[in-house]
Formats: sequence, C-alpha cells, structure tokens
Amino acid sequence: MISEDRVRALAGHRGSSVVTSCYLDVDGRRHPRHVDYEAQLDHLLREAREKAAGFGPEAARSVAADLDRIAGWVKAGFDRSHIRGLAFFACSADGCFEVVESPLPVCNEIVVNHTPHVRPLESILQAYERFAVVLVDRQRARLFRFELGERTEHTEVFDAVPRGTDQPGHLAQGSRGAHVQRHSEEVAHRHLKHAAEVTFSELRQRPVEHVILGGPHEVVVEFVGLLHPWVRERVADQLVIPATAGADEVRQAALSVEAALARRSEAALVERLRGAVVTGGGVAGLEATLAALVERRVDQLLVSEGYATEGWRCRACGYLGPMGRRCPVCTNEMDLVDDVVEEAVEEALANKCRVQMVRENADLDVLGRIGALLRF
Ligand SMILES: [Zn+2]
Repeated sequence: MISEDRVRALAGHRGSSVVTSCYLDVDGRRHPRHVDYEAQLDHLLREAREKAAGFGPEAARSVAADLDRIAGWVKAGFDRSHIRGLAFFACSADGCFEVVESPLPVCNEIVVNHTPHVRPLESILQAYERFAVVLVDRQRARLFRFELGERTEHTEVFDAVPRGTDQPGHLAQGSRGAHVQRHSEEVAHRHLKHAAEVTFSELRQRPVEHVILGGPHEVVVEFVGLLHPWVRERVADQLVIPATAGADEVRQAALSVEAALARRSEAALVERLRGAVVTGGGVAGLEATLAALVERRVDQLLVSEGYATEGWRCRACGYLGPMGRRCPVCTNEMDLVDDVVEEAVEEALANKCRVQMVRENADLDVLGRIGALLRF
C-alpha cells in the first residue's frame, strides 16, 4: 500500500544504475478483462526498451531485466479486489524491485531515469482523504488512523477509573456514594482531558482531513468540548459503535462514513458544474467536454463512473470527438475508439487536469454523464 514513508523512501533512492518506474492502470471498473491491461503493459514495455537504449548497453541490460520481472509479476496474477493501480520501481543492476499497490487509479506511464518517478504516487497521496477515528468512553480512548482506505495506525490511551466506582450500585449510597460518584466523574473528566491532549498531539504530528468520533453519546459530547479547536473543526461525523468495538467493525464503520463524505463532496462539485455551465465557466455533455479538452481549457473533468461510449481520435493532431471519420481540425482520417471517455480521462491526466469520477449522481447523469470546469 502507499504511504508517505514509502514514497519518501523511494524518492530518496540513489543507485548505481537507471531505475525503471512503471505505472499500470488495472482498474477492474475500466478493464474488466486481464487481457485489457496486459495489452497496455506490452505497449509500455516496448516504449521502455526504446528509452533504455539511450542510457548505454549496461543500463539497457538492467532495464531489460526490470521489464521481464514486471511482466512476470503482472502475468502471475494478483487480487484486484482492493487494487486499481500498480506502480513498479525496479533496478536490476542494484537488485531492487518494489511494487506499490494503489487503491486509486493510476495513469499508464513508464519512465527510465536515474531516480524513481514518484510524482504520480505523491498526487495520489494528496488526493486521498486521510482520517482518524477516536473512540472514547469513561475508561478508554482509542485512536485509529486511516490512509487510502486501510488502517495504518492504532494508538490506545487507557486511563483506568478506580475499580468498582463506575458501577451503578454505588450511585445510591447516601453521602459516601455521592462523594465516590463525584470522585469518579472527576477521574473520568481527567481521562477525557488527557485523551483530548493525546489526540491533538498525535494528529498534529501527522495531520488528517477528517476526525470521526465514537462511543457513548454523553461521553462524546463532553470529549468534543475538551478537544483542541484544530481537532474539533475536523470532526466530520459520529459513529454509533461502542468504544470497545473490534478493529474490523471500526474499519467498516469508518469506510462507510468516508464513502458518505466522498459522495457529499462529489455532489458539491456537480453543483458547482451546474452553476458553471450557466455562466460559461463549465461545459457538460460529451461533445462540448471533448472540445474543451482538445482546446486545453479544462481545469477539472467530472465523469460518471462506468460511463463509456464509442468515439473518434485523430492520431495526427490528438483531436477527440463523438463523430468521425474526418478530423475537423486537420482533415486527416481518424480512428474509431471503443471508449472515447477513457481517452478523455487519459488526455486530462496527461494535461495535469484534475479528474473526478462521480458515483451515482443523478444530476451529472442529467448533464450528460461528463462535464468540465474550465480554466478560462
Ligand atoms: Zn486531426
């Protein structure tokens, strides 16, 4: 899996020979069959062989071995249920071979250079929302950190309340009972205060975009009041799970909150697009969006997930359009492509545009399932 540490370590690699960096889109939603991405890989490997020749025979030998190893890894098969992209970093001359599995899609690319090409990994890390789950009750506090959909860290802060005092039987025993209860509340309050401090110091060291809280409602309310404002303004939601929940239960609940947050931000983006189409700051529908892409006016591309349709691509000038066969720009004959939406996404990524895949959003479907916010 991708992590900041891994990307930093890769970026710092300095070897004796050239490094092959290969990104492969294996997204099952866009490439349902293995042969679809294997054909893409063959194309990338050919490209790398040509690039390697420019570095001299020794480097070319090392790259050739890298490519064999990458091809072997892909053809041996892997579980695609959580993987949408692969990144390989290989330097056979130094005996290095690393595979990074990405839960987000990557753009096909192969680079031969003296250092690993990690920029696409960086942008995946930036694009992904990181979040923390903090579960509290009167005795314990547990902090889970999630990055790229996986739990990466788990911190627990235990502060035990004096034995027995948290049992209901103690509450109705006259003045001594009241005193014990008061003491127990003070201890619980100190525990929550401590938990709030630890939460702040953990999250300040490695920031997250969202904080999700869980535990008994009245405890969570008290805890929120004790949180540092920096943490409090990141609180996105509250889970209805106990503070003692198992790691799997926490992960499932957190992922569903995260999915809901993603839908919410996608909906806000589609709303922005709707407004922009009216004022001329955006376009919607296949024909207008492809035209804007060709004119390099796209800032952010929005695509309904699963949208695919035939179209035309001009090999001579790069024009993309819904109608063929003569290119309206350079009059050359164009190629019919199975999925012009896929071509549009790749074109956008290659032009450093942001691409947002939107799930189950009726408003975008009404706009034509594709649209773009424009730079100008
Ligand atoms: Zn053309």
